[in-house]
Amino acid sequence: MASYDEVGVGDSVLLNEISTPAFVENIRIRFNNGRIYTYIGEVCVSVNPYTTVKLYGNDYVQQYKGREIFERPPHIFAIADASYKAMKRRGRDSCIVISGESGSGKTEASKIIMRYIAAVTNVAGQSEIERVKDVLLQSNAVLEAFGNAKTNRNDNSSRFGKYMDINFDFKGDPIGGHIENYLLEKSRVVLQQKGERNFHSFYQLLAGASDSELSKLKLKRDVSKYHFINQGGSPRVDSISDKSDYRTVSSAFKVQGFSTDTIDAIWRTVAAILHLGNVEFKHDGESTSIKNKDAIRNIAELLRVEEEQLVKSLVGRVIAARGEVMEKNHTQTEAEYARDAFAKAIYERLFSTIVSNVNTAIQVKEEEQSSRYRYMTVIGVLDIYGFEVFDRNSFEQFCINYCNEKLQQLFIELVLKQEQEEYQREGIEWQRIEYFNNQIICDLVEQNHQGIIAILDEGCLNVGKVTDEMCLEAMENKLKGHNHFTTRKLSPSDKELKHVEEFRIKHYAGDVIYSIKGFLEKNKDTLFQDFKRLMYSSKDPVISGMWPEGATSITATTKRPLTAGTLFKNSMISLVKTLASKEPYYVRCIKPNEQKSPVIFDAERVTHQVNYLGLVENVRVRRAGFAHRQPYDRFLRRYKMISQYTWPNFHGGSDMQGTKILLEEQNFSNDVMYGKTKVFIRSPQTLFALEEGRARLL
Ligand code: ADP
Ligand code: MG
Repeated sequence: MASYDEVGVGDSVLLNEISTPAFVENIRIRFNNGRIYTYIGEVCVSVNPYTTVKLYGNDYVQQYKGREIFERPPHIFAIADASYKAMKRRGRDSCIVISGESGSGKTEASKIIMRYIAAVTNVAGQSEIERVKDVLLQSNAVLEAFGNAKTNRNDNSSRFGKYMDINFDFKGDPIGGHIENYLLEKSRVVLQQKGERNFHSFYQLLAGASDSELSKLKLKRDVSKYHFINQGGSPRVDSISDKSDYRTVSSAFKVQGFSTDTIDAIWRTVAAILHLGNVEFKHDGESTSIKNKDAIRNIAELLRVEEEQLVKSLVGRVIAARGEVMEKNHTQTEAEYARDAFAKAIYERLFSTIVSNVNTAIQVKEEEQSSRYRYMTVIGVLDIYGFEVFDRNSFEQFCINYCNEKLQQLFIELVLKQEQEEYQREGIEWQRIEYFNNQIICDLVEQNHQGIIAILDEGCLNVGKVTDEMCLEAMENKLKGHNHFTTRKLSPSDKELKHVEEFRIKHYAGDVIYSIKGFLEKNKDTLFQDFKRLMYSSKDPVISGMWPEGATSITATTKRPLTAGTLFKNSMISLVKTLASKEPYYVRCIKPNEQKSPVIFDAERVTHQVNYLGLVENVRVRRAGFAHRQPYDRFLRRYKMISQYTWPNFHGGSDMQGTKILLEEQNFSNDVMYGKTKVFIRSPQTLFALEEGRARLL
């Protein structure tokens, strides 16, 4: 049997010294020798190799298939297999949580896991299962085209969070799945930083569509002609071929069963957004009007809406007051704001529609559901944005970092706390590990009435009257004295807080200063009713179908929609609930350098990530604890043949006594502890030895 490979230490729990420098040094040595995976017990730490590594071929699949984690060198396949075994052997739903900062390799990891699962299932080669696997795997191409973009940190950065369930039948073969998406970064549709791009889909369309397709869409091939996609000044990305990606996406659409009408409507919508970005306004004394009518004509045609209605909803809005309907003109700034909000909303709806179409394609067939429902188990894979700190942090970073607080809380609950509680329950003596429980920060954000989101929501009830600054003041009043929240006013001597509109949250992963500017606006996320009605009026049923709320009449009193913050909070709470109901496995991704280089290991950057992922605490808990544990009966059943006292017959008493006799005879007493119902084994070597002994006799 293979044991750990010799380079560095495969399981950090076995390090001679447990400290951050020792931990980082170990993964450095391993990284430099092509060992990108390292364990902390059953948590897999993955360092982005930034080069193609030959670790995922069928030879590797065979090595890991059906094996125990400790039997083979660290590999993400082992984690995938463990979660698959939990599901198949024990009928447990499991989930794999992948975390790490942007560019650390999360999305690649999730794809590697999916491919592994596809590789080890359907040994019978049923064509329907093959079809399902194909659909599941190809869903990535579609989602990435519309949800990923080139950023300065990652050429293929996911700009949305994704949780994917894979459903299995009682034989352990995949029969479908479901995707949940979180908070698409829609501001990118209208605005990109230098060096960055808009979502891939725009560039794919321009590069990949034929001349006649483009002329139908009234588009020129030239990226620089379109304001919404030329701001970053870097339309070409070396690692990306938009042209061939367009073909990949087109064929993936077909595999996903998108109808021709749907595909057509999708690209027409993308084109309409490009034209919308070029719409300009002028203000002449009284009213705002549109400078370039061609763009309008194109948009109306592409979206199948009335040109006149389109113009009206761009330059003004209809308001109803006490049953009376009035038209109100926009100022030029308002019109520009409305145009951008419109573009963002169209793209966001488009993305949700695509996700829901993919879901239709991958959903478990009804007949499967009824016949196999009782046996159906799930593996969930979570690939979601890591902790983010920019020079200037706004509402989006606030949401993303809150999401990471929630996941850290879950990690604490599941891994750290459960571990400690198990020792207590089992009456095992051990040293208590101090770790920071971040519940207090989750509360700071999400608590009813007192939390930051609640305070923002209150401000949003009165937009127009309440400003961002007033909102910050309300926070100061309600949150003063909170250990994790400061502003300049609450802490005047704090030199880092330079502007009055800034506040700081002390996150578990580090301090982040946010600028309150724009928070209310982004939280309220207004899109004028006029646009919703306009889109609903589209003669294209696919487009009209994306906007059902446009059916509401102007004068009807509608319920106030939930704010972006509250929607996000609710989706996080439900995500955590889903994850908590499953057996969790963790992949912690690390980015070795900022240069996307396969050879540079920037120890400082890595140390920072190791700290905020809490990896060394994880090692400590694991080590204070035990690498492995098993109930006495299971242990004895597996290893009884090793000892003359327990094999062929054991007459000595309880399973616990049998276990004790066996381990004493084999000289492992110093490495184990006996709990009330389980034996705890400190080091994996002991387990190897037991496994080896067993293998020799079988
Ligand atoms: P994240 O989702 O964490 O932002 P990605 O998974 O998109 O990061 O990875 C960023 C880039 O790093 C990928 O496009 C790829 O070039 C490289 N990369 C990541 N993981 C691997 C891997 N296991 N093997 C080879 N390259 C990888
Ligand atoms: Mg990603």
